[in-house]
Amino acid sequence: MKSEELFRRASNVLPGGVSSPVRRFDPHPFFAAGGSGCLLESVDGESYIDYCLAYGPLILGHAHPRVVEAVNEQIKRGTTYGVPTEGEIELAEAIIERVPCAEMVRFTNSGTEATMAAVRLARAFTGRDRIVKFEGSYHGAHDYVLVRPGSGAATAPDSPGIPVDTVRNTLTVPFNHEEAMAELIEGAGEDIACILVEPVMGNIGCIEPENGYLQFLRDITRENDIILIFDEVITGFRLAPGGAQEYYRVEPDLVTLGKIVGGGFPMGALAGRREIMENISPAGNVYQAGTFNGNPVSVTAGRETLRLLDGRMYSDLERKGSTLRAGLRDLLSDLDLEYQVTGPASMFQLYFTGEEVRNYGDAKKSDTVLFMEYFHGLLERGVFIPPSQFECCFISAAHESEHIEATLEAAEEVLSGLKN
Ligand code: PLP
Repeated sequence: MKSEELFRRASNVLPGGVSSPVRRFDPHPFFAAGGSGCLLESVDGESYIDYCLAYGPLILGHAHPRVVEAVNEQIKRGTTYGVPTEGEIELAEAIIERVPCAEMVRFTNSGTEATMAAVRLARAFTGRDRIVKFEGSYHGAHDYVLVRPGSGAATAPDSPGIPVDTVRNTLTVPFNHEEAMAELIEGAGEDIACILVEPVMGNIGCIEPENGYLQFLRDITRENDIILIFDEVITGFRLAPGGAQEYYRVEPDLVTLGKIVGGGFPMGALAGRREIMENISPAGNVYQAGTFNGNPVSVTAGRETLRLLDGRMYSDLERKGSTLRAGLRDLLSDLDLEYQVTGPASMFQLYFTGEEVRNYGDAKKSDTVLFMEYFHGLLERGVFIPPSQFECCFISAAHESEHIEATLEAAEEVLSGLKN
């Protein structure tokens, strides 16, 4: 197999044989040869219905012809300039038109950079140092947010190389737990700059906020002069044109975007209320910069993607997600398996646990060995989902009913096999 050979070569020059950890799975990942629509092809000649979709960006599927054409046209005119372009304004205007809290935008190169800038901005704006995040939430690979949940609000670095002092001001609480947050704010509220939340937790599987929970966060942050940041790197432009803040009708102060906003190219963005955003340099003195910020190729792909994402596409995505989740639930019920199917709109996950999953603690009770058997079973049948219980699956506009049906047939075979 060519992938096996490539993985051996890769392991010699890339730590772990990959460029980002979750891409690795045993015995070795398949290497991509290309992608088209909802299909991802391997160098071994296999074709997979893709629910990983590069971990979220590809809401239109692989290589959408209109995006490819727009990008090709841009590349002919240059790939980066070091001076502003009209495209940046157009994309910023498109974001502001769609995302309720967005009044101004700063482009970055990744979601990581966007959340890093958001935390700095919130600290500068409030003059406070402490930040709150949720157990099991992921906001990128930078030091301030890479913390392991401890008991109570105590956190520890989640990687060697992060000084304990760096995360001393990062507090964590369980998601969907109002009392824990109220208690934390009661004790430390005056020192807290921001609450950083994934409105749908998409890095510990897929966990929706309970009814009223995001509004509770909005109210408690307002009462305590804390900045509420929605990390919509996954949910932005996925759940609705305006992301989770439109879908759940709760408006934060700041939003971080990534993935879809770059239309399949590297890109992130920080957006929010003008009063806060105007503190970013050079308008204000909160430093944020990047050689490739607002890169014309990423901007072009993002702008074209947003243009293509119309209302009908969102209702189709919602319908496909409901069909897939309902199909999985029916299968589980027919097979008498008490696992959990979760997710809104075009996001979903199957948790191998008998108990309801409301937060990190619940998700961690899942049988990850069984999950990997499910993953490999699907892969053998031509369906690719992210190789971890703690990632989220995505549906694209390019998935048709026949793909969803084929996926449910594959899942039925795999799940009935796992039962025996
Ligand atoms: N925030 C969330 C919610 C994410 O899911 C991710 C990446 O998966 C990030 C931030 C980091 O984005 P990037 O990988 O573009 O740095």
